[in-house]
Amino acid sequence: NDKKPISAQAKPVAGGDVWSGVWVIIEYMNGKVAPVSWELLGEGRKLADAIGCGLSGVITGHQVDSVIPEAFAYGAETVYVVDHPILKDYRTEPYAEAITDLVKKYQPEIILMGATSMGRDVFPAIATKLQTGLTADCTVLGIDPDTKLLQQTRPAFGGNIMATILCRTRRPQMATVRPRVMAMPDRVDGREGETVREEFTLNESDFRTKVLEFINTDAKSAFLDKAEIIVAVGLGLAAKRNLVIAEELADVLGATIAGTRGAVEAGWLNHDQQVGQSGVTVRPKVYIAIGISGAIQHLVGMETSDFIIAINNDPEAAILKVANYGIVGDLFQIVPALTAEFKKR
Ligand code: FAD
Repeated sequence: NDKKPISAQAKPVAGGDVWSGVWVIIEYMNGKVAPVSWELLGEGRKLADAIGCGLSGVITGHQVDSVIPEAFAYGAETVYVVDHPILKDYRTEPYAEAITDLVKKYQPEIILMGATSMGRDVFPAIATKLQTGLTADCTVLGIDPDTKLLQQTRPAFGGNIMATILCRTRRPQMATVRPRVMAMPDRVDGREGETVREEFTLNESDFRTKVLEFINTDAKSAFLDKAEIIVAVGLGLAAKRNLVIAEELADVLGATIAGTRGAVEAGWLNHDQQVGQSGVTVRPKVYIAIGISGAIQHLVGMETSDFIIAINNDPEAAILKVANYGIVGDLFQIVPALTAEFKKR
């Protein structure tokens, strides 16, 4: 927890074929930074050290100065800021244009962003403009010791294999990374660095979309990736009306309700409540899996939870193999009994 500034070595490079530095695009929306941005600065530090280059954060938006000291606190040496009224609310086109212009000017070797809704939307647009590759939804990053290329690892073929992808010929190397798979780095308040403010010409008439209104999602399902206790349901619940059994348990524990793709496709839950490969990755303190078989596509989204409790009537169910406590039996008896027991405490 050294309070001294990290040496500011991430200087703009001269152009041409020189691509240098690790950049993290910091996601800032509605006055909040997506925590994955800080997780990526922690991971970016390791990558930058392995290559021997600088680590920078990029903030795009309007009136974003409060974010700059936070970016230094989480390890950025340089913070690039593009502050413009057009960037106040997130839209693909102006964000893609601003970040692309910045990348063309400073030529970072690697750029990273969270695999959030924003990252999944804007990064492909930027990669297309830059004519480079993009590995989406990475769960592991590393640096190849011989070539110094970014090793981008992600589940492939329905989660059955982990594929490690290298971008050999194009620059920058681009990856989005799932929230909560990288550890949150220590925050060192008061750490300083270099701020580079860039002004690009952005004209409203060049963009085809407008933000009319923000509609908040149901509070019960919001922030699933930050929930400390999750009660997750699967098709074992048999019908939507039985969701109440899980909701009663969740109420007693102050937990958030989530579930499998099966439960979402059955119309019992919203898509933003889906845990797994094509849903959200979660890392709560406690994950209670009710009537969930434990398909690999579900496990990749929750197996790093601190403590897993699974209730299933099939002793061979895969979920029981990753559970700290497995309860083999009928969920319609076990879950109400657990709720009644927790109510007493
Ligand atoms: P099931 O597999 O049907 O399991 C139900 C379980 O409930 C069974 O184990 C059964 O023994 C148990 N059960 C039944 N009755 C009771 C009872 N009375 N008491 C106790 N236990 C009972 N899935 C996800 O979850 N998330 C994803 O992001 C995801 N992405 C996918 C992406 C791709 C490309 C593909 C191909 C699939 C994906 N899936 C995903 C689907 C996944 O493969 C499984 O089909 C799904 O997870 C199964 O959901 P489930 O566990 O609810 O249902």
